[in-house]
Amino acid sequence: MAPKMHAAVVEQFGKPLSLLELDVPSPGAGQILVKTEACGVCHTDLHAAHGDWPVKPRLPFIPGHEAIGLVAAVGSGVRIVKEGARVGVPWLYSACGHCEYCLRGWETVCAQAQFGGYTVNGGFAEYIIADPNYVAHVPAGLTAVEAAPLVCAGITTYKGIKQTEARPGEWVAISGAGGLGHLAIQYAKAMGLLVCAIDIDDGKLAHATRLGADFVINAQTGDPAAAVKKATGGGAHGVLITAPSLIAFKQGVGMTRKRGTCVLVGLPPGEFPVPLFDVVANCITIRGSFVGTRQDMAEALSFAVGGKVKADIELQPLSSINQIFERLEHGDVPSRVVLDFAPAETKSQRSEVDQHFASASTASARDL
Ligand code: NAD
Ligand code: ZN
Ligand code: ZN
Repeated sequence: MAPKMHAAVVEQFGKPLSLLELDVPSPGAGQILVKTEACGVCHTDLHAAHGDWPVKPRLPFIPGHEAIGLVAAVGSGVRIVKEGARVGVPWLYSACGHCEYCLRGWETVCAQAQFGGYTVNGGFAEYIIADPNYVAHVPAGLTAVEAAPLVCAGITTYKGIKQTEARPGEWVAISGAGGLGHLAIQYAKAMGLLVCAIDIDDGKLAHATRLGADFVINAQTGDPAAAVKKATGGGAHGVLITAPSLIAFKQGVGMTRKRGTCVLVGLPPGEFPVPLFDVVANCITIRGSFVGTRQDMAEALSFAVGGKVKADIELQPLSSINQIFERLEHGDVPSRVVLDFAPAETKSQRSEVDQHFASASTASARDL
């Protein structure tokens, strides 16, 4: 009999996920099998399970694209990773490697791209099949749990901030201080930017201040665009909208300085109005940004190795996934929930390893 694994499966859009026992998949030629150690829960997983977007996943499917695990088996022809290596299985699951976008290092917009936990099964399962050419290589010094939020929330915000083209000493406004936003604040500070954080939850804004935000604004009290313009002396040079709420997009354009760039990463379903005259007359750029490339991944992870960026994590078991989704939908997750797949009996041993790495990374942060 084939070995079995636990998985959380979307069988119908908008319905609770089913906790099922499925056969462990076996890797084909050119594929690897990853034994999941941890998987972050991104708001995108909720959009996927609700069927929110124009292109929907084929049912049934296993969500999850912040998975970290150990390579358990490799298919024939795989040379780039070895059994036992720690890898991340991200949203950008694979791409063609030879179209005009892939050739220019824009594999994120490859027409053949597959998306983890969306067009192919993802990390809400004890095992995942992955493409070894597109996995994240988790540096020694990061635990699986620490790395998980970085392979989507981390890379997406790091890339998004780069896409604002804001320079050190300039202002960046980060709308939404949740899973993505709490990492965006840390990347922006590490990149030498001044940060204004905007959310609708005072608890998240208090946390944004603890993480280094220079200024915070509750979007539900008054006009957040006017408040950002006042705080930054004319608007933020770069704006990064992570909020899964349409109103935040119109407000974000209004926060942008003349000649500044407003980068859209949040993906609530729908459209938002653009005040054409203001955008044209102020020479504002509005730009979409979608996760990041493999090079962005390596850079985003290395900020964390140096201790400059650290996700705030709440650990939960896979069996809690429906309660986690419920909380995420209502804004009740403080930063990021990570599903912890480590069996109970290995926990004490693992925490010793964690402590070892934690003290090693503190030491290297001090050395900088
Ligand atoms: P999250 O639920 O953890 O955080 C969202 C935050 O936005 C919360 O703190 C919430 O309080 C805040 N918020 C809600 N309405 C707001 C408003 N009107 N103004 C300001 N803040 C508001 O979600 P997340 O995991 O950070 O994901 C956020 C969005 O980013 C989702 O739509 C997700 O699909 C999208 N996403 C996009 C990419 C990409 O590549 N473009 C990658 C990952 C996630
Ligand atoms: Zn994500
Ligand atoms: Zn391609």
